[in-house]
Amino acid sequence: MPVALQVGNAEVVVLQDRKHKFNKTWHYPDVPEEAWEPYADLLGGPEGAVFLNFGAFMIRVDGKTILVDTGWGPDIGPPGDEATPARLLDELAEVGVGVSDIDIVAFTHLHPDHVGWNLVREGDVIRPRFDRARYLVPEGDWEHYNAREEMHPNIRQQALPLGDLDVMELIGGGHPVSVSVTTEATPGHTPGHLSFVIASGGERCFILGDLAHHPAVLQETHWVQAFDWDPEQAVATRKEVFERLERDQSLVVAGHFPHPCAGRFVRVDGRRTWKPL
Ligand SMILES: [Zn+2]
Repeated sequence: MPVALQVGNAEVVVLQDRKHKFNKTWHYPDVPEEAWEPYADLLGGPEGAVFLNFGAFMIRVDGKTILVDTGWGPDIGPPGDEATPARLLDELAEVGVGVSDIDIVAFTHLHPDHVGWNLVREGDVIRPRFDRARYLVPEGDWEHYNAREEMHPNIRQQALPLGDLDVMELIGGGHPVSVSVTTEATPGHTPGHLSFVIASGGERCFILGDLAHHPAVLQETHWVQAFDWDPEQAVATRKEVFERLERDQSLVVAGHFPHPCAGRFVRVDGRRTWKPL
């Protein structure tokens, strides 16, 4: 179910593409079982962090409709059982938005769970699903995957063909997506990883991307996630960004946190903690 938030003059709609059972050992192979104990209360509940959410965000601001990330998509889901079907287009339809209403599609990074609805294949023909949109792609990730042989099939099928379709622009940190939306380079999880800052009417919202896959990581910034490309850089980025988000009390949306994945970073009993809205 889409959830709409107001950030100054911007409307931020939190969308859920899929979710599946969160396997903490698979995501954090180096973290021993007992290290999770202080976070046991974050692991339960019907919509609690026992599920890994695959979120995306639609922003309506400055006369534009912007979609940040496109989920797993319909073709390939997350590994393991219990993944729910891909719903991103249904969720957009529920708020009255069709694929042709999207002006800009932008990505935090090019991992398979963030690019899945990009393209439509009809026989040999590949076309952009969001047929009026410009696709803003993190340059560091684009170069990284174009230089590799091995990659997840969703990246090969849903991200790399963008280069042949004349719809793509490569971007880095500090890119003005619109007057109120700017990218911030947050490398480590992937080489070109971007977060997005929405600043409007004196309010701020930070789209975190994959700096954290579980709320425990707000405190445990040194926990390395299985797909952190450069663990040292990922940890350094997390520390710097999380301290700032705690200090400035921005609204944060974190696509892998339990839906609707919006909240703030607060300090409770000496630990940095996720406080859902
Ligand atoms: Zn992800």
